[in-house]
Amino acid sequence: MLEYFGKAVYKGIVMGPVAVLKKQECAVKRAKISDEKQELERLAAAVKQAKLQLQGLYERAIKEVGEASAAIFEVHQMMLDDEDYMEAVHNMICGEKVNAEYAVAMTGDNFSEMFASMEDDYMKARAADVKDISNRVIRILSGQKDIDLNSMDPSIIIAEDLSPSETVQMDKERILAFVTIHGSANSHTAILARMMNIPALIGVPLDLEELHTGMKAVVDAFQGKVIFEPSDEVVETAAKRMQEEKEKLLLLQTLKGKENITLDGRKINVYANIGSVGDVGYVLENDAGGIGLFRSEFLYLGRDDFPSEEEQFQAYKQVVQMMAGKKVIIRTLDIGADKQVDYFNLGYEENPAMGYRAIRICLKQPEIFKTQLRALLRASVYGNLSIMYPMITSTEEVERIKEIVKGIQMELELGKIPYKIPEQGIMIETPAAVMISDELAELVDFFSIGTNDLTQYTLAVDRQNERLDEFYNAHHKAILRMIEMVVENAHKCGKWAGICGELGADLELTEQFVKMGVDELSVAPSMVLKIRKAVREIGQKETGK
Ligand code: PEP
Ligand code: MG
Repeated sequence: MLEYFGKAVYKGIVMGPVAVLKKQECAVKRAKISDEKQELERLAAAVKQAKLQLQGLYERAIKEVGEASAAIFEVHQMMLDDEDYMEAVHNMICGEKVNAEYAVAMTGDNFSEMFASMEDDYMKARAADVKDISNRVIRILSGQKDIDLNSMDPSIIIAEDLSPSETVQMDKERILAFVTIHGSANSHTAILARMMNIPALIGVPLDLEELHTGMKAVVDAFQGKVIFEPSDEVVETAAKRMQEEKEKLLLLQTLKGKENITLDGRKINVYANIGSVGDVGYVLENDAGGIGLFRSEFLYLGRDDFPSEEEQFQAYKQVVQMMAGKKVIIRTLDIGADKQVDYFNLGYEENPAMGYRAIRICLKQPEIFKTQLRALLRASVYGNLSIMYPMITSTEEVERIKEIVKGIQMELELGKIPYKIPEQGIMIETPAAVMISDELAELVDFFSIGTNDLTQYTLAVDRQNERLDEFYNAHHKAILRMIEMVVENAHKCGKWAGICGELGADLELTEQFVKMGVDELSVAPSMVLKIRKAVREIGQKETGK
């Protein structure tokens, strides 16, 4: 039995096989060969197998994420048929008498560099694809087992670290828990785990060499521990605890359909945060009153090129239609900082959290912003859609956004394309926005407080830095006073204010938020009924005397 402790970012208890994800640095060795024919046969068999794998991925992706996102696997298959690429590999094997792994690695590097140096953005983006297909062939040639996250049995994912773009591509149904060596409690990977309702432990000092895929483990995120090869006794206790948790969840189900109302009659909206169309099921399952934050940037992660207007329109339309008249607040692109996407070519930054991100990218590269806004205005026709802009620091930014929206409106009008101007609000997640929230309130329809970034910027604590987790205190008086101030300024202007940062789901603060007059709490879907329960226990019933 091997026992490790870490920090829980989403509580729960699970048991099952583990899948160990090791960063596959394909350290390919050059070896002399004597039989070129045999080497070419080995290569042909590996390429054939790679194509079969890609075909399988393509077919599954079509069903799960749609044609547009699946297309990349088709492109990869075509690249394996590319005559120039294959001829270069063959020439190297026969000319230099080297092993196939080495020939594929060298050719992959050369082609990738060639693509990277091209002017055309589309061709530039192919550099990563050539690397990807070369690595796939090398893994097959060298007999490395590729864990197929999309077809494995439900497993506990063990990794050094996970980026948001890696996490967002995983099939939630196949993940029992996340256990990572690194990671910070406030990172987007942690937020994704909460949103996906998946127990997660970070900062676990694992030795990955000791672990292998298929081992059995128990993750008890209530106690912050993971036990590999558990004893019968541990398994038995875990099974009992899992049953208890199941019963607690069943009890919460009885709150479905009930109001979020305090004992003395104060009502609050409890909405849910999502990252993809696929999450809407969890929102409905947990009876959320709406969607308070759709992190639209996740549509841009884990792919090789920008999503088109049509693709975005379909995604937003689907969400508002599925929510059938309930409010859906879609936040515009908040890329940057820990949410990195190669094709944005954001470049190296000393300080990305305070760098080129979110609304700054949208205002400096309006063509990206406009595509998204067009899709949003068009989708607005199909339901109760609101737009929310992230990382606002000034009234000028809001004025500039309004100008851009006006331009889009004219374009759609001229093109006779159906659209609706939705309710528009901003995120309050910088101290600057808090301090001028009285002026900002005049310009927008609502505020949603992003306590994750607000805490980071107010306390000068990088939310990504795992060494600073103990200093990241979202309960700090400064934060709570800021929330109160923002709500007051919104109300003075007749606007509403909610919280969509992780603090909104903090049950220790629910009562305080209600007393401050917070109008809405938007939380991970799995927290909706817990917040409803907490709200319904606040205050005292009127005795009627
Ligand atoms: C926040 O900053 O609180 C927020 C909700 O946005 P994100 O976590 O995506 O930065
Ligand atoms: Mg934020």
